[in-house]
Amino acid sequence: MSDSSRMAAAMRRPSSLPDRNGYFGEYGGRFVSESLMEALYELEAAFRKAWADPTYHREMNEVYRDFVGRATPLYFAEGLTRKLGGARIYLKREDLNHTGAHKINNTVGQALLALRMRKKRLIAETGAGQHGVATATVAARYGFECDVYMGSEDARRQSLNVFRMNLLGATVKPVDSGTKTLKDAISEALRDWSHSVLSTHYVLGTAFGPHPFPLIVRSFQSVIGREARKQILRKEGRLPDALIACVGGGSNSMGLFFPFLSDLECVLYGVEAGGRSLKPGEHAARFQTGKVGVLQGSRTYVLQDGDGQIEKTHSVSAGLDYSAVGPELAYYHDSGRISFVSVSDDEALEAFETLGKTEGILPALESSHAIAWAIRKARDLGPDRVLVVNLSGRGDKDVMEVARIKGVSFS
Ligand SMILES: *Cc1c(COP(=O)(O)O)cnc(C)c1O
Repeated sequence: MSDSSRMAAAMRRPSSLPDRNGYFGEYGGRFVSESLMEALYELEAAFRKAWADPTYHREMNEVYRDFVGRATPLYFAEGLTRKLGGARIYLKREDLNHTGAHKINNTVGQALLALRMRKKRLIAETGAGQHGVATATVAARYGFECDVYMGSEDARRQSLNVFRMNLLGATVKPVDSGTKTLKDAISEALRDWSHSVLSTHYVLGTAFGPHPFPLIVRSFQSVIGREARKQILRKEGRLPDALIACVGGGSNSMGLFFPFLSDLECVLYGVEAGGRSLKPGEHAARFQTGKVGVLQGSRTYVLQDGDGQIEKTHSVSAGLDYSAVGPELAYYHDSGRISFVSVSDDEALEAFETLGKTEGILPALESSHAIAWAIRKARDLGPDRVLVVNLSGRGDKDVMEVARIKGVSFS
């Protein structure tokens, strides 16, 4: 059986998660207004039909190859491995994708779905702008109108990405409510979608939100793990001892882990943002201090105070800076299949520089969290072990921020 038909078969098995109401155990679901239910049903039906259709996978694979630049390499990080003197470290090079990160895997999949659903317009939310740029890119490629919701505070901080989206033909809509950040942008995008669903597809950017988004985003991103599994078998003749990925909403981590879930010999580590400390407001380590609640359509771990108010979050990396986490990860957290750890801002910054100096690769600050955990684990594990780390994105976007933190000025 081909990879895609094996995946399609797995998704039809009644035991496979999520269940028909979008639950991974007790997490997930569809906590939205009645006006959005129809949109979610339509999307789920379209997704299941497309996913079972070999033509859809052929189209997607062609775009992945010629537009995105897949398959991405699995690279043996010899310099880093030698410096640490421990496990052999491999990097899955999602940083080499068009637009610089894994996010485009998902926006391509959803754009092809929107074409099949005969939508004319794409909307998206964005925090730092990475997902907004990836959505604007596919909108330009396929001729969709495109509006991107962005908290006005984020738009001010990330004005270069706003300009980049404009150059690609998208309109950025600043959101002035609440804390003027990602959470408010998602709420605004859902509101738009509830009255524009006939013409519009909402491209959610991570494995989060109401069903079926966690399912469809993980399905598109699982190309990362399918490639990595084949590549490591070819290079090492066996599966890795551990896989490591950073966790924002959960799309690059679930994408890498999904094809390894039943390989129980592989330990899976999700790395959250430990920020400045684990005090409220200083981090985004949902599994360290979060409690179960409902946020933006999904039941999951949420950082909240005693009254259920959403806590502020902080991370040096904008992509990990969010108060809730994808429901599928919550399920595998409780079952113990995925181990969650956190890495501080300082440790991530150190890993950013270490990878630059040992490998000639500047990782995104999000990915630097995964690298930092790999540095710790490689030393513990010893030389006959194998680690695979998801290098979810490139660090070019973060160079100015790192300069600011180090007190370097250019004027
Ligand atoms: C957005 C982003 C992340 C975090 O999002 P996930 O959905 O958890 O993958 C991680 N790395 C990079 C480079 C990103 O742009």
